[in-house]
Amino acid sequence: MDILACPMCRNFPLKLLVFERESRYKVDNTVKCELYCSYHVGAVSELGETRCAECYSYEIINGLITCPKCGRWYAIIDEIPIMLPDYLRDRSRDEEFIAKWGKNIPPEILEKISLS
Ligand SMILES: [Zn+2]
Ligand SMILES: [Zn+2]
Repeated sequence: MDILACPMCRNFPLKLLVFERESRYKVDNTVKCELYCSYHVGAVSELGETRCAECYSYEIINGLITCPKCGRWYAIIDEIPIMLPDYLRDRSRDEEFIAKWGKNIPPEILEKISLS
């Protein structure tokens, strides 16, 4: 998550919402997110002590990435963040994603990402 920037406006960091995750890796306690911790949701400099062993031990299966700057959103489906620019977006996949995970998305975000 440290490396992701918005493919359209290049904003960084992006916000992450996790729907489903799996604890999968064994990591030691020395690992840390570099700039922005998407698991603890905040800039590392503001969070102070972050236990990023947790971040690194989880694999995100399904989730949502939102860009606070331009308001775009990107799905994480089966562990893969779909970070595509507008012209490559697959509308039916977007609709399917919202139909499936809409109930997990806070209303104020859902309102912004719903397809008109
Ligand atoms: Zn972290
Ligand atoms: Zn953006």
